[in-house]
Amino acid sequence: MLIRLLGTGNAPQIPVFGCGCRACRRARVDENFRRRPTSAEIQTARGRFLVDAGRTDLADWVDPDSLQGVLLTHYHMDHVAGLFQLRWGPIDPIPVYGPPDPIGADDLFAHPGCLDFSHTLSAYQPHTVCEELTVIPVPIKHSRLTFGYILKGRREALVYLSDCDGIGPESADCIRRAEPKAVIVDCSFPPGQGRNHLSLDRALELVRVLETPWLYLTHIGHDLEVYLMDHPLPADGQVVLAQDGMTFTLD
Ligand SMILES: [Zn+2]
Ligand SMILES: [Zn+2]
Ligand SMILES: [Zn+2]
Repeated sequence: MLIRLLGTGNAPQIPVFGCGCRACRRARVDENFRRRPTSAEIQTARGRFLVDAGRTDLADWVDPDSLQGVLLTHYHMDHVAGLFQLRWGPIDPIPVYGPPDPIGADDLFAHPGCLDFSHTLSAYQPHTVCEELTVIPVPIKHSRLTFGYILKGRREALVYLSDCDGIGPESADCIRRAEPKAVIVDCSFPPGQGRNHLSLDRALELVRVLETPWLYLTHIGHDLEVYLMDHPLPADGQVVLAQDGMTFTLD
């Protein structure tokens, strides 16, 4: 099983429209520094599952025959914007797994098209998505009802936490017990800044709290990117800045 990050930017993405900061200028020159809105995919033997769908170009290139489902962390627009086009596909219903949020986003629930939003998940209840993959939703702190996910293969686990403004003791305990090979977590802001998302200083604490060997930072904002140009993460540390296109294996 492969997990590929399709978008590691926060809501404004990088480059930010009209911004002339160093990070945004660099991203306009070098494609490797672009950060698109939050999206990821899981490639299984059965097909592809999206994890969040913030990219608005998904309908241009996601193969409708291989798409088996969508796993949503929450219904903020930067995580669901791509669904507004996908839903109109004349294809069999696609299950959308997510938290029990009665509102959703704009008119998604009123006009779901091919998307079946009835697959609501329950906190801490494992759900077998396909033979290879079980997901365990863990509630995390954010400005809206949000699940992080423990993604479990047959032998390994990977944790995806975006968006995140902190993790309560029950969810932290659940993650530790899964012994993930890596944790991918929202880190939007430089140290001491921002709200509703983790800043760098608070994200770094999770290496110890979650006892993870590797912490990958995602949902990156341009201010954090500028900060990291002057204060790079140690190359030999346990914390890595995620990039669009980064791929993880999960056995
Ligand atoms: Zn900028
Ligand atoms: Zn959010
Ligand atoms: Zn977000």
